[in-house]
Amino acid sequence: MNISEFVLQNEVPVRLGFFFGTFAVMAVWEVLAPRRQRVLSRTVRWLNNLGLVFLNSFVLRLLFPAAAVGMAAFTTEQGWGLFNYYDVPAAVAILASIVAMDFVIYLQHVMVHAVPALWRLHRVHHADVDFDVTTGARFHPLEIILSMLIKFATIVVLGPPVVAVVIFEVVLNATAMFNHSNIRIPKALDRVVRWLLVTPDMHRVHHSVEDDEANSNFGFNLPWWDRLFGTYRDQPRAGHEGMTIGIHTYRQPKLVAWLPGMLVLPFIGRITGYAINRREWSGQDEG
Ligand SMILES: [Zn+2]
Ligand SMILES: [Zn+2]
Repeated sequence: MNISEFVLQNEVPVRLGFFFGTFAVMAVWEVLAPRRQRVLSRTVRWLNNLGLVFLNSFVLRLLFPAAAVGMAAFTTEQGWGLFNYYDVPAAVAILASIVAMDFVIYLQHVMVHAVPALWRLHRVHHADVDFDVTTGARFHPLEIILSMLIKFATIVVLGPPVVAVVIFEVVLNATAMFNHSNIRIPKALDRVVRWLLVTPDMHRVHHSVEDDEANSNFGFNLPWWDRLFGTYRDQPRAGHEGMTIGIHTYRQPKLVAWLPGMLVLPFIGRITGYAINRREWSGQDEG
């Protein structure tokens, strides 16, 4: 059995182990060194945010039992994609694949903010009025399906080694929990870490109710895309303790904290000044 077959066969326990391990570390860290005071009770938010995570895992397993790793194994078998056409050293193929997949996630994230119908879906992630380890995995099931289809397309074009996809899935999962967590990292340390990895302070800016701040720091893993493409913003104007997290127009706990509300949130209300073709020079409120 080669390494690809091994990780392919043990993908689920490996991923679950990393998920619960990272979750536990971040949850304890949030208790020991919190960054902000909570708006809503932890019990309500965690029950519902994690309920949504559970529902999403179920939907994904049902629709795409082989997931991204299965798709990578398939493209390798078929000889599809860049890295299956060209003979590149394994280390280069793995590293380049991870960086390329992260870039696609960045572009996807910009897209779901700009396109009105997709912003409706992505609003569920932003409507959380708090920002903690459970926010990192809180996405509407339809956005999760869209993400998986984009990932499949990326894998078909790229032909990444199976190991690269496993590493990417595990790392992305862990960094998403890390950079959404309500933890205090000393400013000097944060400044160094954010050259390599999106930190909680960097991503929190993206969860601001202010439109210009929410349209910054789209990166999930690597912080370089925001700096390279001009979407980087250092800190929120009101400071991390003073800023408001969430969306201006949706703050009722029933809609933003309870699972049934999160599931219907994409289908209600109008999109006004937020999405790309709704902007006016005079400036309207986000909707
Ligand atoms: Zn976003
Ligand atoms: Zn986020």
